[in-house]
Amino acid sequence: MRSVDEHLARILNTVRTLAPLEVELEQALGTTLAEDVSSPVPLPPFDNSAMDGYAVRAADVAEAGPDSPVVLPVVEDVAAGDGTLYAVGPGLATRIMTGAPLPAGADTVVPVEWTDGGTASVTISRAAPRGNAIRSAGEDVRSGEVVLTAGTPIGSAQLGILAGAGRKRVLVRPRPRVVVLSTGAELVEPGSQLGAGQIWDSNSFMLTAAVREAGADGYRAGSVTDDAAHFLDQLDAQLVRADAVITSGGVSMGAYEPVKEALSPLGTVIFEKVAMQPGMPQGFGVVGEDQVPIFTLPGNPVSSFVSFVLFVRPALRKMAGLPVEPPATVQAVAAKPLRSPKGRRSFLRARLVRDADGRATAVPVHGQGSHQLAALATANALVIVPEDVTDVPEGATVEVMPL
Ligand code: AMP
Ligand code: MG
Repeated sequence: MRSVDEHLARILNTVRTLAPLEVELEQALGTTLAEDVSSPVPLPPFDNSAMDGYAVRAADVAEAGPDSPVVLPVVEDVAAGDGTLYAVGPGLATRIMTGAPLPAGADTVVPVEWTDGGTASVTISRAAPRGNAIRSAGEDVRSGEVVLTAGTPIGSAQLGILAGAGRKRVLVRPRPRVVVLSTGAELVEPGSQLGAGQIWDSNSFMLTAAVREAGADGYRAGSVTDDAAHFLDQLDAQLVRADAVITSGGVSMGAYEPVKEALSPLGTVIFEKVAMQPGMPQGFGVVGEDQVPIFTLPGNPVSSFVSFVLFVRPALRKMAGLPVEPPATVQAVAAKPLRSPKGRRSFLRARLVRDADGRATAVPVHGQGSHQLAALATANALVIVPEDVTDVPEGATVEVMPL
């Protein structure tokens, strides 16, 4: 049997980071930046007002106070977007709006709230120090300065600064396109009537959603029967749009295991037992001319889910050009005794709760079978029980992976 760590290492050694691609800014959300981006101009590009008010010379308003207001003639009005080069002379004021360029000669802005708001002349009842309410050119970014480095995940704020630095297109590692294919003669689409021996296909929905939660693009290809040729046909048809494929079912030790039957002869996909529970039967390899990675996960829904978290999610991060870190875990107190098979790493479904003192407790959910998807859906964490531990007493400290 392979260990969980060996299986993950083999996967991470095989998958490649996707080639960089130039995309329109609107398409860049959720991708990873593949170039250093600098701003061609300083940001802000020019000195401008941070408030609505009056651009003046600080010396002219130095004596202004509630009992000694200063009155200045208003010579100009400058709004945001006004490209005219204004100047304000000694003893004069220019009415200025937020974002408007500071007129030459002005060295401070008196907020409108400190004045009577006049348009022909303005009465100022409070002194504004030099530089007040002025945003200086380049105070956010100097000209030529790198605003984002290659490898940065692009969220909304990052997309904002790319636009703010004038970029229309940007080089990124795209979101991996992942096709999800479930197998099983017993599967029917949710919404249709269940016949004898049938169940609704949950894995293809769950895994496609998991792909999307992981920041990749998931495509649900629906389910195929337990016929190996049918499976290969479907796989072939889906490969054109896939950077990776996830299958569920058809990889265990029984008869009618279409995934194993179809892919074993290729020699590029290895099926093996991984020392874990749930999710012992696993397969991984590459298929097609482009050597597309394929994760053949076991059919039991909880096994599929846990396999995705342990093996597929890190691989998708690598493909997207993101650092692969071990899943974050926390220490918690086991609220009940736990059992785990010898020689296998267990991932028990639990609710991680914190009491008033912030002490974390892991309460195993009722229903630890690998088919018990309803129980999984009530859990928010996995308790990890190491290979060499078979019994965890109540009150012991355990390692917990929040979901
Ligand atoms: P298999 O890995 O194909 O032997 O399937 C193991 C168990 O998981 C069987 O009880 C299947 O009915 C169930 N199963 C397989 N695929 C799915 C699916 N897509 N949705 C829900 N249950 C499934
Ligand atoms: Mg099956």
